[in-house]
Amino acid sequence: MPALPGIFKKEGRYKMKGKLKAGILGATGTVGQRFVQLLENHPWIEVGDLAASDRSEGKRYEQACTWKISGQIPEYARALVVKECAPPLDCDFVFSGLPSNIAGEIERDFAKAGYPVVSNSKNHRMDEDVPLLVPEINHAHLDLVPLQRRNQNYDGGYIVTNPNCTVMAMILALAPLHEEFGLERVHVVSMQALSGAGYPGVASLDIIDNVIPYIDGEEEKVELEPRKILGRFQNGKVHLADFTVSAQCHRVHVLDGHLEAVSVSLRRRPSQEALIEALNSYRSLPQKLKLPSAPARPVVIVDGRDRPQPRMDRDVERGMATVVGRIRPCPNFDYKFNVLGHNTIRGAAGAAILNAELLVAKQLLSKRTQGQPVGQAC
Ligand code: NAP
Repeated sequence: MPALPGIFKKEGRYKMKGKLKAGILGATGTVGQRFVQLLENHPWIEVGDLAASDRSEGKRYEQACTWKISGQIPEYARALVVKECAPPLDCDFVFSGLPSNIAGEIERDFAKAGYPVVSNSKNHRMDEDVPLLVPEINHAHLDLVPLQRRNQNYDGGYIVTNPNCTVMAMILALAPLHEEFGLERVHVVSMQALSGAGYPGVASLDIIDNVIPYIDGEEEKVELEPRKILGRFQNGKVHLADFTVSAQCHRVHVLDGHLEAVSVSLRRRPSQEALIEALNSYRSLPQKLKLPSAPARPVVIVDGRDRPQPRMDRDVERGMATVVGRIRPCPNFDYKFNVLGHNTIRGAAGAAILNAELLVAKQLLSKRTQGQPVGQAC
């Protein structure tokens, strides 16, 4: 691994001299719980404060939280007292897993107060000066951070976002195809897991024995966000990539893991072998830097005429990869295939943690010293 500031290797694991402290906004929710789980024993980051709504404020985390993911609440988090989602918090930066009706303002308040905000929410994703970051694909967009600080008058703080969970599952497969052959048109039909709707989410009487062919606001995000992620950063702006996406989104009776049927038309039609090779060989900066949460293989192709399946394949590469299968020619487009992504890991908390690791590597995230704004170096 190239030298990263303050990071060293001990007993085969990367450690950081004095870990960074993260605050988690929305810590009791579906995404918040994943943050709490994934940050247990993280080599560079530990949890400082947990924050949620006034329903939870003042309670111990184990009382406030209806734990809904496998395993127990990590020991370190049980007795932490949940705080209000407002600065100051005991941390160097915050992860946000807040609902969109409140995330926009609260995230801005933290950025104004000097905290880097690594967000899952949709509110700032399409802001012109906010990176919509996928470390494998568009780390160059981090050059927006100093511009954002100047535009918004942030003193040390800033906002970086990760994509919508459905976008995340397909974008890791679309990126190498766009890079090598140029995307022209994408069509996607999603089958999205229940955990994607948060907790308590969709009523059981609505989803048992059923599929719901509508998710509020989802298709718009799936049609727009890929064009920003794959957009070119030039003259201080991200120029949207020149392809179209048509999306039809469905909620299905699955706990975790979004399955998507994708068809693509490419500007230069490759052979099926060349297309598979582009997906198989895709590696990028997080793999080169060996960031702690980076999947060794961002895209994993599975064999079998009936794969990928959510229950069988969502935990490949610890839930951090996009799993692809059923690659075949398409009579209407060039090729069609299925993709699968774990919506609360690579589609949410895991994506934000990987973003934070890249921010550390790029020296945009560092320890906050008393009375000083954080993340000054950039
Ligand atoms: P969720 O399960 O409903 O959790 C919401 C969290 O926000 C809880 O901790 C809740 O605290 C807190 N909260 C609610 N109202 C609040 C308020 N007025 N002030 C402060 N905190 C408040 O939602 P989620 O599924 O985790 O989603 C969180 C965000 O991540 C959303 O923007 C969502 O679109 C995005 N996202 C979700 C997924 C996914 O797979 N679920 C994937 C990608 C992105 P209390 O427990 O105290 O009410």
